[in-house]
Amino acid sequence: MKPRPDLPGGPYLVVGLARSGEAAARALWARGEEVIGVDAGAPAQAGRLRDAGVEVHLNTPGGDLVTRARTLVKSPGVPADAPVVTAARARGLAVIGELELAWRLIPNEFVAVTGTNGKTTTTELLGHIHREAGLPVAVAGNVGTPASSLAAGLDPAATVVCEASSFQLEDTEAFSPEAAVLLNVSEDHLDRHGTFDAYLAAKLQAFARQGNDDLAVLPDDLPLEDAGGCARRVCFGETAAAELAHRAGQLWWADEPLLPASEIRIRGPHNRRNAMAAAAVALARGVDPDAVRAGLRSFPGVPHRLEEVAEDHGVLFVNDSKATNVASTLVALRSFEEGAIHLILGGRAEGSGFDELREPVAQRCAAVYLIGEAAEAIGAALSGVDVPLRRCGDLDAAVAAARAAARPGDVVLLSPACTSFDQFADFEARGERFGALARGEA
Ligand code: ADP
Repeated sequence: MKPRPDLPGGPYLVVGLARSGEAAARALWARGEEVIGVDAGAPAQAGRLRDAGVEVHLNTPGGDLVTRARTLVKSPGVPADAPVVTAARARGLAVIGELELAWRLIPNEFVAVTGTNGKTTTTELLGHIHREAGLPVAVAGNVGTPASSLAAGLDPAATVVCEASSFQLEDTEAFSPEAAVLLNVSEDHLDRHGTFDAYLAAKLQAFARQGNDDLAVLPDDLPLEDAGGCARRVCFGETAAAELAHRAGQLWWADEPLLPASEIRIRGPHNRRNAMAAAAVALARGVDPDAVRAGLRSFPGVPHRLEEVAEDHGVLFVNDSKATNVASTLVALRSFEEGAIHLILGGRAEGSGFDELREPVAQRCAAVYLIGEAAEAIGAALSGVDVPLRRCGDLDAAVAAARAAARPGDVVLLSPACTSFDQFADFEARGERFGALARGEA
C-alpha cells in the first residue's frame, strides 16, 4: 500500500453520466465536494444523480460549464477531443479519468488488469482466487462495478482487482497500481486511439509510474522491454523468459510444477493465457499456490463468454454472446477439440468482413445457422464452404433448428461475430434468450 496523491480539487465537472460517471460523481458528492454533472445525452443514471441532489445538465455538450470547475472528471466513453474536454484543457483545468479518481480515493492494494481481450475473465478469476485463498477482495470493472463506487465502506484489508480499459488508462496522471497485468495487445479501438502505438501507449500507462515495490505482469511475446517502470517484472507465456510458463501440457511457476493445463476449468487456449496471467499475479503477490490451483480448477468463467448453459441429450449448449466480432468467434471455434459445432452466427455486422471464418467453419462446424441483419453478408462470405448454411431469421428459430440437427457429443454454439443491436438490447439480453431457449424455458 502506498500513499495516494490528493485529489486535484473542486468544483468537479463530471462529464458522461452513465455508470462510471455516476459512480465518480457520487464518490465526490459523498465526500462533500461540489459536483456538476453533464452528459450530451440523457442516460438513466443521471436521473438518480439529480435525485441525490447533484446539479445535472443533460442533452448538452457542456462546454460553458468549464468556467465553473477546477477539475474535469472524464468518463471512459467520452472521447478525448470532445468539445468540453478541449475547453477544459484550454482553460488549464485538471482532467482526470474515473480510474485515476478511484485509485486516489481508495487506499487499498490495487491490481489493474488491462489488455485487448480477456480483461473481465482475468479480473473475475483473480477475485475468485482471492476468495479461494480466504483473502478479502473487491472486484471492479467495465461490466460490473465502477471502481469509484468502492470508495466508501471498503474493508481496508481488501485487495481491489480492477479491469482497466485503454480509455480509462489514457486519462491517468499519477495512477500507479501496486500490481498491473497486461494480457495481450491487438489492433482494436483504433477509431478512438488513432494508431496502434497510441493504443499501446495508453495500455502501458498502467505501468509507467510503478515503483520498486510494485508488480508488472506481462506476456513474454511482446517487445515491452521498457514497460513496467521500476516494478518487479514477471512474464507469462511459453518461452524460457516466462516465470509462469506453459510447457508440455503443464503450468510451471518458477520452475516448479503448478498444475496440468487440462485442469484449468475455463476452456480454450485464450483462457489458458488468462489463467496464466491471473496465476502469475496471485503467486507473485504471495497467494498460496494451493488456493491458486483450486481457483483455476473451479472458476466457471464469466456469463456470455463460452458459458456452458445447458446439456440436453448429450448436446452441449454454449453461450458466447459476448463474441461481437470475428476475432472472438475465431477464438471460440479454437476452444472445442471434440464434437461437431452447430454455430449460430449473425446480428449487426461490426465493420470488418467475415472471410476469416471460412477455414475454421469448414474444419469444425456441422452446420451454420444465420440470423439478423448480417445473415446475407455472412452467407456470401461462407459460400462454397462445404457446410450447410441455414437462414433462420432469428435466434429462436436458429436454436430450434440446431437442436433438431445436433447429435449426442455435438455442441450448439452461439458465437455470433456480430453485435446484438438489430434484434436485442445488448449482448447480455441475447445470451439470456439463448440460455432460456437452450434450457427449454422459452
Ligand atoms: P474483455 O473484458 O477484455 O472484453 P472478456 O474476458 O470479456 O474480455 O472476453 C471477451 C472475449 O474476448 C471472449 O469472449 C473471447 O472471445 C476473447 N478473449 C478472451 N480472452 C482472450 C485472450 N487472452 N486472447 C484472445 N482473445 C480472448
